[in-house]
Formats: sequence, C-alpha cells, structure tokens
Amino acid sequence: MRVIRSVQALSAWSRALHREGVLIGLMPTMGALHAGHRALIRAARLSCDAVAVSLFVNPRQFGPAEDLSRYPRQLRSDSALCRGEGVDVLFTPSAAEMYPPGFQTSVVVRGLSRRWEGEHRPAHFEGVTTVVTKLLSLVRPHVVFFGQKDFQQSVLVRRLVEDLNLGARVVVCPTVREHDGLALSSRNQHLTPAQRRAAPILYAALRAGRTAILGGVRSAARIRETIHHTIAAEPLARVEYLAVCDPETLEPLRRISDAAVLLGAVRLGRVRLIDNLLVRIAER
Ligand code: AMP
Repeated sequence: MRVIRSVQALSAWSRALHREGVLIGLMPTMGALHAGHRALIRAARLSCDAVAVSLFVNPRQFGPAEDLSRYPRQLRSDSALCRGEGVDVLFTPSAAEMYPPGFQTSVVVRGLSRRWEGEHRPAHFEGVTTVVTKLLSLVRPHVVFFGQKDFQQSVLVRRLVEDLNLGARVVVCPTVREHDGLALSSRNQHLTPAQRRAAPILYAALRAGRTAILGGVRSAARIRETIHHTIAAEPLARVEYLAVCDPETLEPLRRISDAAVLLGAVRLGRVRLIDNLLVRIAER
C-alpha cells in the first residue's frame, strides 16, 4: 500500500491508472476506522481494480464549538487496517496541503444542506461538499463509496456529483451496527459506560417508527410521536431532531405513501449521535 500525502502525487497516481484503463474506487473518511469503514473498503475492493482511501479530519466541516480537537486520530491502526484490506493508496494530507494559503473556494449544495444536520451544524455540509469535490477532482474515481449511516450526506453527494458532472458512480453501503443496534461511529469511543448503555435507544426508537409504518400508520406526526415516546424512556438522551422525510428530497412528509426515511440525532452528554432508517411500505 502506498501512503500519499501530497495532492500532486495523488493526481499523478490517478492519471497513470486512467491511462491504463484501471477502474478506481475512492472512499473518503476521517479516520478512526472501524468495521463500518471496513465494509465500505470491502465493497470497493469487490467492484474496483484499485482502491484509494482518504483519511482527512477536515477542519472545514466542524463548527467552532464542535469536537475537531477531540476527534480521534489513530493513523497507525488505520493504516494497518487499510493495508490488511488490500487498499492500494492511503491519502493522508495535512490541512495545509488541502487548503493552502489563498484558498477561497467552497462548494454548496443549496436546498438539501439546509435542513436537519445542516440546521444544527451550519457549516458542516459546505465543508463536506468542498472536500469531496476536491477529492473527486484529484482521484477521478469511477466509483465513490459512502455509508448510509450519514444518510443526508449521501443524498447531498449524489446531487453534487450529478450537478457538477463529476463523473463518479455513487454507491451507498448499509450501516454496520453493534449487536445491540448502535450504529458504529468513531464518536462512540467518547461515550461513558452509562451513555454507551443508553445509546442504542436511537435505533430502537427508529425501529419503533418503522414498526408503526409497517403496521399501517400513515401519519408522519403519529410516527414521530412514537419515536419521541420511545426515546423519552431514556433520560440520558436529549433529542436534537427526529424527522420523517421523503428519502430523495429530505422534505418532511405529512403522510407516508410508499417510502420514508426516519432521521434522528440525539445527544448523550457531549457526544452527538445520528442514525436513520429507510422504510419502504412494500417491505412488509
Ligand atoms: P467518517 O470517517 O465518519 O466521515 O465516515 C466515512 C464513511 O464511512 C462515510 O461515508 C460514512 O457514512 C461511512 N460510515 C461511517 N460509519 C458507518 C457505519 N457504521 N456503517 C457504514 N458506513 C459507515
């Protein structure tokens, strides 16, 4: 596995592979890799000839009061995981490499970035779509892999790639969970033992919402009530938002006709957790 730290070396690598007609897969990450990331790498390995993983804790997607300095950094074990999974290139640039002096450009996906995560983390998606645009321009992957864990992000990236003709196929892989349902996340390591015991409540509540839908409830307000009610049983969890939305537009639904995505964010102390569940009525 080659470790690359400069943008020039990365685009030279990609150019050489493009000349040879090699199918390139890219998986952007912020490191602190876990089994969720590993599943994405495996999906990339299965469908692409060369796999690049980027590992960059992107300062632009953190707000001033957010956990940038606390975000776990573990390059040694991350690079061992990538090597073990047969990754070809691990791209680990510095912030100065990605945003050199004079850098001024940003990429905004307007409508989709405003709601939900965007409301609670105002600069977040601008940071994400800017860095993803840079990574896609440098690597020019044929396929780019994201996790459903960050549902809104995956919808935004699809829009971005289509709007700017970035030419990659966007593949969204299912959320990998702990045995008790908690979605794997680098932030889980900050949970205290009591918060960790409480954390599966978010997924449990979303599942209660799904059960209601599959049981015939069609009113989004009633489904949100069910979800809220389940979370209210856990005193350590504070809800930031819970939404029943159209999976493509992310607009809130009044009634569910065929599909909905249930989105949620909760705080357990200083740790913020997000999760989601896609429900199709034909599923039952
Ligand atoms: P991150 O390093 O947290 O920015 O995540 C990098 C990629 O891994 C994103 O596309 C995430 O959606 C995806 N990801 C994170 N957690 C999980 C998970 N539990 N299951 C599947 N994909 C995940």
